[in-house]
Amino acid sequence: MPAQPRNAAVTREERRAALREARVVLVSACLLGQACRYDGQSKGSDRVRQALEGKEVVPLCPETGAGLGTPRPAVVLRGGTGEAVLAGHAQAVERESGQDQTAAFRRGAELALEAARRFGATVALLKERSPSCGTQGTYVGEQLVQGRGVTAARLHAAGILTVSDEDL
Ligand code: SF4
Repeated sequence: MPAQPRNAAVTREERRAALREARVVLVSACLLGQACRYDGQSKGSDRVRQALEGKEVVPLCPETGAGLGTPRPAVVLRGGTGEAVLAGHAQAVERESGQDQTAAFRRGAELALEAARRFGATVALLKERSPSCGTQGTYVGEQLVQGRGVTAARLHAAGILTVSDEDL
């Protein structure tokens, strides 16, 4: 039985408190205004910027970091959420064409973990519902389901507490 991640089953209030206390935070780059989303847009947010005031911020987009371009075809998970993708039981595929992007999604998750470790981030503030960054919900096929995207699952398994923009 693997060790229980220390961020298992924390409440929204506990996640918010952990973010307040964190000195270094890994952040989905689109939440900081980078136009790195699949549709070429950003999701810059004043609430995010306020929550990060005074902290060291490590911006990262796992998908573009893994070499996927912007804009790029929308991707959904197939067969399970991020944990299942990491375990090899599910895939990340382009919604329209079905092209398999699992390797890129796994690479992006490893990049995020490497960045968190290198800079000492104990908390990650991620964009909700993304197939990479979703912390509480993500798309499996056309269904929004409870669960994590691939990067959020990798960070969670490594003991990094994941908070989303919707927790703020
Ligand atoms: S949600 Fe994550 S993968 Fe998607 S654009 Fe934002 S940082 Fe990149």
